Amino acid sequence: MSSPNIRQKSPVPRASPSAGVQLARQSPLTSVSSAGSLAARLVDGTPTVSFRRFNCTVFGVLGIIFFIYFTVVLCVILPWLSYSVPGVLNLGFLSFDTGIALYCFLLCVVVDPGRVPADYAPDPEANIVLQVKRKSGEVRFCQKCARHKPPRAHHCRVCRRCVLRMDHHCPWINNCVGHANYKAFMLFLIYVTAAAVHALCLLCGHALYWVRMHAEHRQHSIRTGPGGTAVGTSAEAPLRGNLVWAIMQTLCTGVSLPLTIGLVMLLVWNLHLAIHNKTTIEFHEGVTAKIQADKAGTSYKHPYDLGLCGNLHAICGDSLPAWFLPTRAAADGNGLSYASGWHSAAGDMRVGL
Ligand SMILES: [Zn+2]
Ligand SMILES: [Zn+2]
Repeated sequence: MSSPNIRQKSPVPRASPSAGVQLARQSPLTSVSSAGSLAARLVDGTPTVSFRRFNCTVFGVLGIIFFIYFTVVLCVILPWLSYSVPGVLNLGFLSFDTGIALYCFLLCVVVDPGRVPADYAPDPEANIVLQVKRKSGEVRFCQKCARHKPPRAHHCRVCRRCVLRMDHHCPWINNCVGHANYKAFMLFLIYVTAAAVHALCLLCGHALYWVRMHAEHRQHSIRTGPGGTAVGTSAEAPLRGNLVWAIMQTLCTGVSLPLTIGLVMLLVWNLHLAIHNKTTIEFHEGVTAKIQADKAGTSYKHPYDLGLCGNLHAICGDSLPAWFLPTRAAADGNGLSYASGWHSAAGDMRVGL
């Protein structure tokens, strides 16, 4: 768990002051912040949970996951591979991936991404770095919520409030992806993509197996003549399937193929953002900031990029074995301050508060 470790010496930021994500260094008078008590309240790592976000879309996503899982298990793994070693291994891996993906999905839905405390106020006396408005240079303030915005927080029009470290509002979870559920969102993408690729491979493998068996059956029928049907032979077994199962497999493949392609693309994109410690909003802000910096003849660097290891630690936590387990929904920190790569040379300096 991080703490606002504020040091009095800090290097000058390398980015242009006119960059999209602007930071302002405050006067080094005191580091006692009125927001310190707020940080202490949020640092307990207990995110708020709400079950009111379950809607038709969320149930639809759950239905698709269950449909693909049970179709692959009941129509492919058990009839085809049965309880052989490959069958048990495939069943185990698919169940593990799907189970963790479901748990992470439910976390994404029910966990509040992070609210700005009602009495949050940036401390102008602290020797810290604050995000400021791009044009006026003033500390960011949300007119709709009538309160200050911590660094990386943005107002969500759907949720009608500011969200800490807002990444984007996701209609599939009927919730914002923010500070408290970002790790769960990333793990959901990883495990659901692995499960989708696995399921699609099993569906395609079974379809190829069925086509091969069908061809062998026809060859056998041709050799033995019209009266010599291969009743009872092993070649007929895969052809004796229920028509309903065949339709379900076809439907399942039709759903899985575009879904898997979309998930792989989404995962690659989000991994790219994660290894640079950028939210989706910050990516777009960074594009604008880079153009402005190029025009001004300066350089722009994302302020929260801590390097590959630092970024992964910031998102997944300090415990390496827990990186790929949904042991906690929230990323490290309290959501009101974040370490900045601009100060990496000066040590663990926090940004915000
Ligand atoms: Zn707001
Ligand atoms: Zn939202």
